[in-house]
Amino acid sequence: MSDNLPNPAPAPTSQHYLDQQFWDHCAQGVLAFQCCLECGTWRHVPRYMCAHCGSPAWGWRESSGRGTVYSWTVCHMPMSPEFETVFPYAVLVVEMEEELRMAAGLTGLDYRELELGMPMEVEFKPLRSGGKLPFFRPVAR
Ligand SMILES: [Zn+2]
Repeated sequence: MSDNLPNPAPAPTSQHYLDQQFWDHCAQGVLAFQCCLECGTWRHVPRYMCAHCGSPAWGWRESSGRGTVYSWTVCHMPMSPEFETVFPYAVLVVEMEEELRMAAGLTGLDYRELELGMPMEVEFKPLRSGGKLPFFRPVAR
């Protein structure tokens, strides 16, 4: 495992406005997700309406930053030149305490030691281009 960081800047999708708010929180070292103001359901990735109740009313709330490993994949080939110094690397899907799932890279552990259900917590790392990128590291046992 390499802990050298790639430097791709997050690229907002078609819902640019909402994605940018997520990345703005990350740049402050805060993991925040949308939360429905009607039913309290958390959601990720950002979107305009609640998938549970259909409400368009939402706000950002800070996550605990903790969850457990739901799944992962290991990339053995760099998908772009920015990743040539870091592969192989693992990308995790973590079931967050807020009952949503989030994908991010692994740090602080060799991917061969990953286990389903392993407790994880978010760690932000600075991008050379500015901002911060969330990763997951194992919670100290
Ligand atoms: Zn709702």
